[in-house]
Amino acid sequence: MKVEDDLKTRIARACRVLGKMELTRALRGHISARIPGTDRIFVRARGPAENGVRYTTEDEIVEIDLSGQPVAGMPKGLRTPSEIYIHTEIFRARPDVNAVLHLHPPTIVLFTVTGVPLLPIYGAYDPHGLGIALEEPPTFESSVLINTPELGRELAATIGAKRACLMRGHGITTAADSIEEASVVALGLNELATMNYQARALGEPRSISQSDREALMPAMKRLGARGSAPGEPSESVTAEWRFYCRLTGE
Ligand SMILES: [Zn+2]
Repeated sequence: MKVEDDLKTRIARACRVLGKMELTRALRGHISARIPGTDRIFVRARGPAENGVRYTTEDEIVEIDLSGQPVAGMPKGLRTPSEIYIHTEIFRARPDVNAVLHLHPPTIVLFTVTGVPLLPIYGAYDPHGLGIALEEPPTFESSVLINTPELGRELAATIGAKRACLMRGHGITTAADSIEEASVVALGLNELATMNYQARALGEPRSISQSDREALMPAMKRLGARGSAPGEPSESVTAEWRFYCRLTGE
């Protein structure tokens, strides 16, 4: 299979898995990947002919340059996402990033609406999720559509060198080396938000201790390791991702 076809297949599958895991609102969201050795990307298109994130097909994945323009026209009924600048500006700013994900997960959005912090409340339960919590994902404080290059640059500055940022009254963006890593970061963040929410329903959540954080460092680092080549997931990301693919029948 050509590298390009493989990337399209992986983006469409990731959209379906995260849609089935209810990490977004219906039609809203997109995942992209850098085409190796180029300044072009593949991204899920939007428009009247689309099926929604959960039902994304490979022919809905289109090629865009880093100015946000389609490389070879658009299939009928599809258009570039209005928020394409989330992707293009992060790819411009971050040579280490080969995949960007933008979704509207309801549970995480509730934390941005209330300003309640996502606390590092668990350890061995999910060291991967703890790692994301300890990165302290920043929040982009505006809830507008990121539909200009300037707004894209502001968002890219907010995420900085991190793997995730929250967007107030809007959603999340994750940025990682591979489509699969960007996806498991989003799933880990969603689990963290779900557990924080439920903990607050029961009582006052408590952050785990500093010594526990340090003891869990090696386990946390495992999912953050690099794969065998740029854009390829590590063994531990591959295993985590395989579980979610099987869970959702993908
Ligand atoms: Zn959005």
